[in-house]
Amino acid sequence: MEKKLEKGASINNLMPGKLRLKKLAPENDFPDVSMHNNYMAKFLTLDLYKTLSERKTPYGFTIDRVIQTGVDNPGSPFAMTMGCIAGDEETYEVFKELLDLVIEDKHGGYKATDVHKNDFNPDSLAVQPTSRLHIRHVMALSNSFFLKGGDDLDPNYVLISRVRAGRNIRGCCLPPHCTRGERRLLEQLAIEVLGSLTGELNGTYLPLRSISEADQQQMVDDHLLFAKPVCPLLVASGMARDWPDGRGVWHNGGKTFLVWVNEEEHLKLIAIEKGGNMKAAFTRFCNGVQEVESKLKEKDHEFMWNEHLGCIQTCPSNLGTGLRAGVHVRLPNMSKRPEFEEVLKRLRLEKRAIGGVDPEADSGVFDISNSDRLGFTEVQLVQVVVDGIKVLVEMEKRLEMEEGIDDLMPVQK
Ligand code: ADP
Ligand code: MG
Repeated sequence: MEKKLEKGASINNLMPGKLRLKKLAPENDFPDVSMHNNYMAKFLTLDLYKTLSERKTPYGFTIDRVIQTGVDNPGSPFAMTMGCIAGDEETYEVFKELLDLVIEDKHGGYKATDVHKNDFNPDSLAVQPTSRLHIRHVMALSNSFFLKGGDDLDPNYVLISRVRAGRNIRGCCLPPHCTRGERRLLEQLAIEVLGSLTGELNGTYLPLRSISEADQQQMVDDHLLFAKPVCPLLVASGMARDWPDGRGVWHNGGKTFLVWVNEEEHLKLIAIEKGGNMKAAFTRFCNGVQEVESKLKEKDHEFMWNEHLGCIQTCPSNLGTGLRAGVHVRLPNMSKRPEFEEVLKRLRLEKRAIGGVDPEADSGVFDISNSDRLGFTEVQLVQVVVDGIKVLVEMEKRLEMEEGIDDLMPVQK
């Protein structure tokens, strides 16, 4: 790389004095978000806006850029969105009076003084249940149903297991705010770092530009590639600018470990395992993340991270681990039950429609993953998914046999 990415400015020294960023007073620019349903709108007052309008990060990110996506996308009564994003690592410090409130509310009361912990040891899965109540409940079920460390989700129901997390590189703006040049430098750095991986992690980088439209679609259908961010939430945040410049996907020989470059985060690291062996996916994920991090350090770079927020991410909803452990799971009966949403909530899981081929088809297959990110370790979150999927699959089996599921209803985790 000809030019090095600069390291970030010290986070302790970030409160610039009064800046004249706008022609008119904040009162004139204050957005009307009174009818919006997102976390930003819930907490943004005129007083707060006035205070934050006087600031910008060292890379020039302003409160208006933080909130633009939430101003343009009011959300709906059924879907509470975040309504704000970060443009650089410093955003979370400079605009903390707003973002701390958003983070606390979104992440189950996570306080500005709380400390986030990591755990990348897949072997902890066997011995570290997250909730005693839940375990007691699970133990009350048949022996074959007891936790075995995440490698035994029933493959007749669990089609594919996946663990992903975003990582960003300190000193470079995040996708909503980085320049074209910065994005290209990041891509170059990713190519060098990923190109130095060996063994199971030896792989190939494909710039998005080099993949035909048809091949891109095939890769999206095969769950290997991200789709173009056309969703208004993403577009309004600024992260789709210059598409596809600087974007690409790296994958290992077996296509079981992928890194998406310059999608919603600088890097998104993804481990995939066919069937129900979530532990294998998590193990590959942990190894991959640690390998990439150590190769990055050899080049004198590091991930954005701090003790309070864990891994810094573009969207505040992803802070902490940034981890989404998910399965594609077949639940044609359970998903039609009125209790389905409540069961997911109690198990701390969220559902998404599966991407890929014909997402509209009523296949009864869902993408189910942990709903938490921050304040829990990686191991705890994967454990939540393993435990929860076992409950859901057990319920599905009961319903297949036209038996009741009332006694399997979990308590709120
Ligand atoms: P994320 O934000 O975690 O990357 P998305 O919902 O944006 O996930 O989906 C991105 C891609 O990842 C889609 O192509 C989707 O099919 C794929 N994907 C998500 N979960 C799984 C899974 N458990 N197994 C295989 N592919 C998955
Ligand atoms: Mg996504």
